[in-house]
Amino acid sequence: MSTIKTAKGVLYELKKAGYEAYIVGGAVRDYLLRMPINDVDITTNARPHQVNKIFRTIPTGLKYGTLTVLYKDEKFEVTTYRIDGEYQDDRHPDNVTFSEDVQEDVKRRDFTINGLLLSDKQEIIDFVEGQKDLKAKLIRTIGDPHQRFNEDALRMMRAFYFQSKLGFQIETQTRDAIFELKDNLKNVAMERIVNEMIKIIQGEHAKRAFKSMVTTQVHEVLPGLKKGIEHILTMDDMPFVDSFFALCFTLNDGIVPQEWTFSNKHRHRYQQAAVLARKTKVFDAYYLYTYGIDLCLLANKVNFMLDRSKNLKSEIEETYQNLPIQSELDLKLRATEMIEITGKKAGAWLKDMQHQMVLAVLKKEMKNDKESLIEFLNKNIK
Ligand code: ATP
Ligand code: MG
Repeated sequence: MSTIKTAKGVLYELKKAGYEAYIVGGAVRDYLLRMPINDVDITTNARPHQVNKIFRTIPTGLKYGTLTVLYKDEKFEVTTYRIDGEYQDDRHPDNVTFSEDVQEDVKRRDFTINGLLLSDKQEIIDFVEGQKDLKAKLIRTIGDPHQRFNEDALRMMRAFYFQSKLGFQIETQTRDAIFELKDNLKNVAMERIVNEMIKIIQGEHAKRAFKSMVTTQVHEVLPGLKKGIEHILTMDDMPFVDSFFALCFTLNDGIVPQEWTFSNKHRHRYQQAAVLARKTKVFDAYYLYTYGIDLCLLANKVNFMLDRSKNLKSEIEETYQNLPIQSELDLKLRATEMIEITGKKAGAWLKDMQHQMVLAVLKKEMKNDKESLIEFLNKNIK
């Protein structure tokens, strides 16, 4: 977290050393909207090595002229004025040129509401009619939308993100350009799209953003999300991130497309939940034991979103609480004892036997006590 108040101290220090400096971007926007402020970014004509002489810094993006400045227990991204070259399928442009003109730095930014500057004297400097768009609640690119989306297609996703966060409209020409250029999103690194998607889902006005994705047909170019997004528009509330993806992939024939660059843990979770939701609506002891409570609850949530008549959450939790056994380790007969009783060497049969025992206990065909387990062992051993 960083604050405008402390950021003004950073501006002051930079000015004292003979440079220009302003607060820029989201912090100015959210400050004017009286919304909570995420991070305060600072733009300056000082070059990174010059900023480095004034503050304690971390070199977080030197290639792009960005340093993280540590000041009064807060962190600020301080970036040198720059003009961006072509963006190519990455988080940052291919080449950047430093500039002495703050107007050039503002012009490289995406939307007018993100192009406002705030000085240490509390003045707003507005080269792009950003204040007008803030009042009109409009998301409009700085300059020609076609050109700006051609430079960096991710900006289209960012338009939806700001819509979701702020509840604004996307200005007509900006929206038309998104419709025309939506296929360019296929060339953007999926990791960047995933990040924006996750931010979009969490916004207060996410449904509005999803509606725009449908109107501009962007939902068609996001692999595996089309049906999910359409379904969510029929619901009252927006689900959390995990439920959203699990729902989308359930409706996508239970497939998580390879393109989605989730962590392995997340990919596995969405994949299993989607398969499970398609397989069953009832999560009995067997499913709870095999898949765990978390996945069963997620799959249940998906089923509930698809067919609102039954939310079995409390039943599932109760079944789980009352599971006669939660893991093979809970069997009242140890593997070493099984080896001793049968006189067999440890091997694959052991795992297999434990599994059969667990199933019998789960189905309540047998009690989990030593005597019953020994009897079961003797009866089933080959
Ligand atoms: P948030 O509240 O999500 O932090 P933000 O406006 O601060 O919103 P960031 O992603 O933190 O957004 O970016 C900071 C600023 O950098 C933006 O306000 C914008 O001026 C500029 N910016 C970021 N990404 C791009 C981009 N892809 N193209 C052009 N300008 C960008
Ligand atoms: Mg920010």
